[in-house]
Amino acid sequence: MPYDPQNIFAKILRGEIPCQKVYEDDHVLAFHDIHPQAKVHILVIPKGPYTDMTDFSHNASQGEIAALFRAVGKIAKEQNLTSSGYRILSNIGLNGGQEVPHLHIHLFGGQVLGPMLIRWEEEGGAVSC
Ligand code: AMP
Repeated sequence: MPYDPQNIFAKILRGEIPCQKVYEDDHVLAFHDIHPQAKVHILVIPKGPYTDMTDFSHNASQGEIAALFRAVGKIAKEQNLTSSGYRILSNIGLNGGQEVPHLHIHLFGGQVLGPMLIRWEEEGGAVSC
């Protein structure tokens, strides 16, 4: 899927729409999610035009990749989440439920977050492998 420069995070990066910034460096921007799903819900994004983790992991430079993951750790520390724990998550594509086609890592914390997903087998699913 080609990168869409009109996606909402591209507009935030260009300063066309505002965000509640929590962190910025040469390669990374992080801001509060507009519809938080936890007490702390921050989105960490690369500044480069990457649609998702597949695109990023194939095409980003070593510097961009290191910066994104270092930023996640720095933000967690700055937000005092490291001792209580937190969760990171990135949705990719249709099955992943990705809404905004610019790579973003959700960082959740500040509360007990519960199970990661509804347990597949309890929902009547079957493991096929
Ligand atoms: P995803 O479903 O993984 O693509 O997540 C997209 C996230 O972006 C959702 O949690 C939205 O609430 C969030 N979001 C959408 N627009 C904005 C915005 N303008 N500022 C901050 N977060 C946003």
